[in-house]
Amino acid sequence: MTRVNLPHRIGRLEELAYNLWWSWHPQARDLFRALDYPLWRLSGHNPVKQLQETGEDKLAAAAADPAFLRRYDSVMSAFDADMSGEGSWFAAKHPGLLTGPVAYFSMEFAIHNSLPIYAGGLGILAGDMCKEASDLGLPYAGVGFTYPQGYFHQHISAQGWQEEVYEQLDFDETPIKPVRPVHGSEPGSPFVEVQLNDRRLYAGVWQVRVGRVDLHLLSCDIEANRPEDRQLCSRLYTADPEERIQQEIVLGVGGVRALRALGIRPSAWHANEGHSAFMMMERIREELGRGATFAEALSKVKASTIFTTHTPVAAGHDVFPVSLVEKYLHPYWESLGISREAFLELGRQDSGSDQAFNMTVLALRMADHRNAVSELHGRTARRAWHGLWPQLEEDRTPISNVTNGIHVPTWVAPEMGRLYERHLGRDLSVRYDDTGLATSVPSIPDEALWTARRILKRKLIGAMIERARQCSTERECTARQVLAMGALLDPNALTIGFVRRFAEYKRPQLVFHDIERVKRIVTDRWHPVQIIFAGKSHPADLPSKQLLQHVYTLATDREFQGRIAFVEDYDMHIAHYLTQGVDVWLNTPRRLREASGTSGMKAAVNGVLNLSIRDGWWYEGYNDSNGWAIGDTVEPYDPGEEDRADAESLYRLLEEEIVPLYYRRDRAGVPHDWLRVVKEAIGSIVPVFCTRRMVKEYVEQMYLPAAPGEPEPEDDFGKESRPGQL
Ligand SMILES: *Cc1c(COP(=O)(O)O)cnc(C)c1O
Repeated sequence: MTRVNLPHRIGRLEELAYNLWWSWHPQARDLFRALDYPLWRLSGHNPVKQLQETGEDKLAAAAADPAFLRRYDSVMSAFDADMSGEGSWFAAKHPGLLTGPVAYFSMEFAIHNSLPIYAGGLGILAGDMCKEASDLGLPYAGVGFTYPQGYFHQHISAQGWQEEVYEQLDFDETPIKPVRPVHGSEPGSPFVEVQLNDRRLYAGVWQVRVGRVDLHLLSCDIEANRPEDRQLCSRLYTADPEERIQQEIVLGVGGVRALRALGIRPSAWHANEGHSAFMMMERIREELGRGATFAEALSKVKASTIFTTHTPVAAGHDVFPVSLVEKYLHPYWESLGISREAFLELGRQDSGSDQAFNMTVLALRMADHRNAVSELHGRTARRAWHGLWPQLEEDRTPISNVTNGIHVPTWVAPEMGRLYERHLGRDLSVRYDDTGLATSVPSIPDEALWTARRILKRKLIGAMIERARQCSTERECTARQVLAMGALLDPNALTIGFVRRFAEYKRPQLVFHDIERVKRIVTDRWHPVQIIFAGKSHPADLPSKQLLQHVYTLATDREFQGRIAFVEDYDMHIAHYLTQGVDVWLNTPRRLREASGTSGMKAAVNGVLNLSIRDGWWYEGYNDSNGWAIGDTVEPYDPGEEDRADAESLYRLLEEEIVPLYYRRDRAGVPHDWLRVVKEAIGSIVPVFCTRRMVKEYVEQMYLPAAPGEPEPEDDFGKESRPGQL
């Protein structure tokens, strides 16, 4: 951070600003808000930037204000207590069982909007996982990238076409700090180097604090690199396979070297998706250096590695042409002492074909602990990858499942969080996974619950109107664009959200299958319905951009009377508003394509009801009385017929059940029958689909079995595997 002179009495505000712990603790957020509300807003809820801009007089006044100081002291003591890890679940339940942290490799981490190094669901899961690891006292170390340009911002033109806007991240205003390889060296000095074909690439390491967990983020944008190499890792999920394979070598190989150079000795290694699977290669190389044979090294690395696969959709797996693998990985197989053939075999899906190198296959072969992310996805994954274990029955394919969850303190609205604490107990924040909650949720008074729900919808619509206003003044948006942004939304109308990445398999257009029918539902004079869309298309995915344009064009059709809206630039910030503020969360994937999904869980914790195909987590989550299931089958069938039948089911549910239930009120306007479903949803979903349950399962089913009882031998691989080698 630059140029801040904090008064001594509140001097630890800087430490707090640089630990994203503040982002899931409402009292800490309130502290920054209280310091200077306009700056808090203008900084985009980014205390690092806020503190740089707060005037000295304001800081001096805060340091002399007894009310502010009481808050400050209370936040700092809660922070210190949490950071000590004393009394945590892990310390109490499994004392001394891990000799080092679990290293968690991920291409993206979504911790907070002020750190835009994520694209979507995978990053959200990684971020929520780290926060929960911190809360549970689990030793954990994240490894990823800090992308100077992150993922793109989405603008939609008046013609409904997605435009991608990249912004350069200012590291000085980001809750991130460079790590110096040796004391006194310049920030951004090379920390690790890797060989990429005929050149050496250097990476620096930046650190992000997430409570007790540190993320170690690599960046290639440092002076030691040639100018074109500085751009190599500047964007997340580039479409160019050659750029991607290089990024993945940096993440996997460079990531292991970075941990070594930092003196971190993990007890288990977790690859979140196949992107980081080259880390297993690097660890085999290390074992060879300790004198192991290839077979010994492989078996040791496999035993301590966990791999999670996140998608049943083929396009979600990285598959590289063999020519690229040869170009970039030949020095690696040489150093492993294995043949080209043996190396390529590790990433080959079907033996006999020499065409491609599949990162998921590589990861499945190099990790003994493998899992999918929901029950149903477990089944799909065992079917899809059965070919790797042809000698086993399909349902014995060694891929288990740990169903995803959400980090409740991150996603619960403060209004709902307070309501829960008042009626379900002050200690709720440490027992969100207590299934006993189901029996106490009905004690929440309907009136209080309805008031909170109404406030959250007003906040959402208020925020959308504010964006529409800004668009019309600052970007000179047309009247059509302003309409599409939700300028005519009604806070009293039943509001449905379709909010997710735009991809064909998610079927964003399904609700428009019969335009006249949906028009009748939406524009009903006495019981109106409105639909809010949001989501990005991958920049290279033209069919999905066309789908987006199609939906956007409908949103601006006058006959829908302004009751369809499209929120631009879906990110974590707008995800909070949407998952908290709508009434119904709509999800219509083609069957067996959604591995889990988590946004519906965020909705449920806020009392928003799910209306979804029984795919992903909803296959487990739906219990007949906590929301609605579209269609009655689980297995896919003819796509045209599937669309027709699902649209029919969706319309019938809306016409016959959902709309009548929502508008059935008592004299005071409270919909008691609706709220009964809301409470059923909260009680049955929150305790199960939360990261607290999920991370405990990872610990007990994956991490502890993967961790050797003893630390790795003390050697200086850190130094040895830095300059000089590969
Ligand atoms: C939760 C979340 C996701 C994941 O959404 P799914 O609909 O479950 O795939 C993606 N992006 C953002 C910004 C989110 O908050």
